[in-house]
Amino acid sequence: MGIKFCSLSSGSSGNCQYIETDRVRILVDSGFSGKRIESLLSSINVRPDEIDYILVTHEHIDHVKGVGVLSRKYDIPIYANEKTWISMACLIGNIDDKNIRIFKSEKAFELEGLGVYPFKISHDSAEPVGYCFHYGNIKISIMTDTGWVNDNMKEAIKGSSLYLIESNHDVQMLKEGSYPWPLKQRILSTKGHLSNMDAARTLAEVLRGNGEIVLLGHLSKENNVPEVAYDTVREYIEGYGFSVQKNITLDLTYRDKASKVYIL
Ligand SMILES: [Zn+2]
Ligand SMILES: [Zn+2]
Repeated sequence: MGIKFCSLSSGSSGNCQYIETDRVRILVDSGFSGKRIESLLSSINVRPDEIDYILVTHEHIDHVKGVGVLSRKYDIPIYANEKTWISMACLIGNIDDKNIRIFKSEKAFELEGLGVYPFKISHDSAEPVGYCFHYGNIKISIMTDTGWVNDNMKEAIKGSSLYLIESNHDVQMLKEGSYPWPLKQRILSTKGHLSNMDAARTLAEVLRGNGEIVLLGHLSKENNVPEVAYDTVREYIEGYGFSVQKNITLDLTYRDKASKVYIL
């Protein structure tokens, strides 16, 4: 009894994460065209008609672009909280009533034995959530698109076997970069995105050093470099006694291709 996880894509151009158990296959967000998601799935040998559910974190287009198309084409139920449903309705088009599934944030539910816990995060959207998934003694946490991490979020994700955590920007690169000031302010705000250092600090608090897998996600194309994100997090957590060689696996996710498939 285990879980397979793959980040099909992560970044401001589109987000889609894949989770599979022996009983269920789900996507967290579908922020590309239906066609693009079909091809990302086929790159890991999964057919789109095998997807049982799509869970949505928030209504930004890089997370919902393909949600409606996939639901209509393959008759897939969509899960989101009520505020997100209201905000994404005009973006995803008509959804069959039976495929509209509404959950309450911070209230656990189950999908074919897979425990799902949507927890509130801090972002400029209606009611954004991160997700924890439980199956047997495996726990996976997905937390991107949040401007800061409070104790409640740390408590939610603690003890995971795999973390997908946002490492959006290098603060220096963002400040010196070409974005207009209001956009820089938005990204840096508590309702924006996590920096490399924010990710590093959070990880130093929640990791245990028992072989966890850490994936850095939602990297900015303009304001980050994969090596900078990786090295910032590695150096910081190693300062706290963790070893990326020995007791933590640290990996990246990509904007334009799937990550490795992790089997937990
Ligand atoms: Zn996003
Ligand atoms: Zn967003």
